[in-house]
Amino acid sequence: MTYAFEAVGVIRSPYREKFGIPRQPSLVNAARVTLELLPPYNHPDCVRGLSEFSHVWISFIFHQTMARGWQPLVRPPRLGGNAKVGVFASRATHRPNPLGLSLVELAGVECGNGVRLHLAGADLLDGTPVVDIKPYIPFVESRPQARGGFVDGPPPQLTVRWSEQALRQLAALAAPPDLALLVEQVLAQDPRPAYQDDPGRVYGVSLYCYNIRFGIREDIATVLEIIE
Ligand code: SAM
Repeated sequence: MTYAFEAVGVIRSPYREKFGIPRQPSLVNAARVTLELLPPYNHPDCVRGLSEFSHVWISFIFHQTMARGWQPLVRPPRLGGNAKVGVFASRATHRPNPLGLSLVELAGVECGNGVRLHLAGADLLDGTPVVDIKPYIPFVESRPQARGGFVDGPPPQLTVRWSEQALRQLAALAAPPDLALLVEQVLAQDPRPAYQDDPGRVYGVSLYCYNIRFGIREDIATVLEIIE
């Protein structure tokens, strides 16, 4: 059985590549993410009443990785990148149907010259196609007593420090006001692949139009340089 869907909207986010995007929504709330609705869904009627909800479910396509197909077993980063679980016991991007589902805060609904939803805490790549939007209904969907399997709580956080050079560069940039906080929240998540521990290595993460160079030694991430 085959079904075809079309995108109802597209994500505009500071995450310009997969590396560094938080592994789940709500872990990094500094990211300013916008969902732009596409015609014919960009009519105010389609979102009437939505602003009364604080959170929405975003159904989207893992468009950047879908060409790589799927495997029945995956290695979740939370299990250290070695142990395998079934694809349907994971939130992995490589799935039989490349559909993602994120619960995010709805910070605002903007109508006028199209329709835009302002989202906080999204884990979505810039350009992600969105196939559906639904309001989150706490009394039906909140399950505080639910078992979380191998994901039993938020991941440990790294401490983030800035080099003198990076601080000077940050001060000189005409960067979005949330850049510093965004960098700190993204690096605190430890974006490295689960199996990697190379204190001499310099990593780069793309946020907005900036490449943030950083290193990680023990539990401290240091921002080394910001390249425009
Ligand atoms: N919350 C969603 C879910 O559970 O379906 C996504 C979870 S998935 C583990 C989160 C990761 O998806 C992010 O860290 C990022 O690397 C990746 N991602 C986000 N947008 C993507 C896209 N459009 N294409 C491919 N990968 C994407």
